[in-house]
Amino acid sequence: MAATKAGTLYVVATPIGNLADLTTRAREVLAGVNAICAEDTRHTRQLLSAFGMEKPLIALHDHNEEEVAWKLVERLRGGESLALVSDAGTPLVSDPGYRFVRAVRAAGFAVSPVPGACAAIAALSVAGIPSDRFCFEGFLPAKASGRRERLAALARETRTLVFYESSHRIEESLADLVAMFGGAREAVLARELTKLFETVLGDTLGAIAERVAADENQRKGEFVLIVRGCEDDADAALIEGQRLYTKLVEYLKPSQAAKLAAELSGAPRKALYEKS
Ligand code: SAM
Repeated sequence: MAATKAGTLYVVATPIGNLADLTTRAREVLAGVNAICAEDTRHTRQLLSAFGMEKPLIALHDHNEEEVAWKLVERLRGGESLALVSDAGTPLVSDPGYRFVRAVRAAGFAVSPVPGACAAIAALSVAGIPSDRFCFEGFLPAKASGRRERLAALARETRTLVFYESSHRIEESLADLVAMFGGAREAVLARELTKLFETVLGDTLGAIAERVAADENQRKGEFVLIVRGCEDDADAALIEGQRLYTKLVEYLKPSQAAKLAAELSGAPRKALYEKS
């Protein structure tokens, strides 16, 4: 059976570090399509050349996706087959492509997945944290205020949480997670998965934050952070107390903010004050 069909868009996962993770089918499909739409054509050219392949490449990223999508639909209408790849892992997962996929489907053409690596799923598979229900949060907002707001909204989420993070924000994000979720929450930090310096640290959020702050090497590379969901009432009271404290301390002295937040939430005042 031929690997590709006319008038079909293949969404192809590529490795997240280890080139050997490109599947046999992904190679066949990439070799069989008329052209490959790539987030960064230079990056994809290197990947293809590592496998002795060369293909026409079309740049498709957040800024041109809408505009390029319709031209690509016309190519499918003309009987071509296309592939969509991102720089690493599964396209559309914290990567461009959903507008393109939507346009192709709306025009009545087939969109077929070629599954493979995904950093979130790889991290979840080794974390040892409940994975029957989880929510993928991707990247937290870059600004501290937005990040804290997002974390406040997530603090009582009972499902396991999955975050992506980069080397320049991992320390700040961990510090904010400790401030908003409490340092006792279980988490796993998966760094450089499938690469030479792969590290999987499992501990409390507080201990992971300390380790990352103390060791520059632990701040290098790419990260997935898996955080256990909110589990008990004490946890929930502390989280609510922290949320209130963060707001109240903008208007009151820290001691007054902690007292009021403790009264309203049922969390111990000392825990709120000490964490501030
Ligand atoms: N589409 C990709 C996927 O399927 O995982 C994710 C793309 S997103 C732009 C890049 C982020 O994924 C990185 O900042 C990091 O959080 C995570 N990531 C990618 N490769 C990774 C790896 N080898 N180890 C840990 N995290 C990784």
